[in-house]
Amino acid sequence: MGRPKRRQLGQHFLVDQRVIERIATLTKPTPPRVLEIGPGRGALTGPLLERFDRVLALEVDVGLIPSLQAKYIGTTLEIRSSDALNEPLDPLLAAEKPWQIAANLPYSVGTAILRRFLPRHDLVTRIVVMLQSEVVDRLVAEPSGSGHGLLALERAAYAEATVAFDVPPDAFRPRPKVHSTVAVVDLRPPKFSEKELKAAFYLASHGLNRARKTLPNALKPLVDLNQIERSGLDPGARPGTLDLADWVRLAEVVGNSGPQQVGLS
Ligand code: SAM
Repeated sequence: MGRPKRRQLGQHFLVDQRVIERIATLTKPTPPRVLEIGPGRGALTGPLLERFDRVLALEVDVGLIPSLQAKYIGTTLEIRSSDALNEPLDPLLAAEKPWQIAANLPYSVGTAILRRFLPRHDLVTRIVVMLQSEVVDRLVAEPSGSGHGLLALERAAYAEATVAFDVPPDAFRPRPKVHSTVAVVDLRPPKFSEKELKAAFYLASHGLNRARKTLPNALKPLVDLNQIERSGLDPGARPGTLDLADWVRLAEVVGNSGPQQVGLS
């Protein structure tokens, strides 16, 4: 692989020491191992090495790795040249599980990387993550709030998430155009089965693409009015106001109506 372009990789490096320390202190003492995604020039890696005996870092930009290795020579840091979007997680993490994750994620791929880890409470307990503020808003959004979409439903399925603090563009070099926010995401076993969640997310992603419409219109042709009423939902409601349990219940009613209704099998 050639060296990817820096802009594409969201390389805004943290330079504000107070912010860096605050992110590191949001990790817990246990489990005693941390995966850092995108260590970059190692701003966060140092404070993590002070707290953890085991720090494993995944960096996609091979050009950054030699200086990172030199900076932390003689420490227990293990760096892998790897893309966190498709590195297989079980071979990477299962032997020593569970892990915490600390990451200042690039805006371009931050959501996709977070979504990969959300269902993996078996491998990861806590994710301390910095993302674009707008993405964190969507992550923690509640059904009545704006921005309540699929990301919030996935978070509700797999984790508790809290907003820790906002980080202004001045904390980085080069300065990003957007504001950032640090969130703490604690993973837990889901209350619904994988099958229930799959069916619920399928309906939700369809409906939330038409979020301004009322349920019967937003969910055409997958769900009819009768099924919405049988689920106890208000047909005048908009898709963004439904919580995870609502989508699971609706998917169950639709699934029980016969396989010809929707492709939920
Ligand atoms: N942690 C450093 C800091 O806070 O200064 C760097 C953060 S910078 C916003 C994002 C880092 O993630 C960059 O070093 C970039 O090369 C790396 N990165 C981008 N995409 C990645 C991916 N898919 N897998 C692993 N690392 C990635």
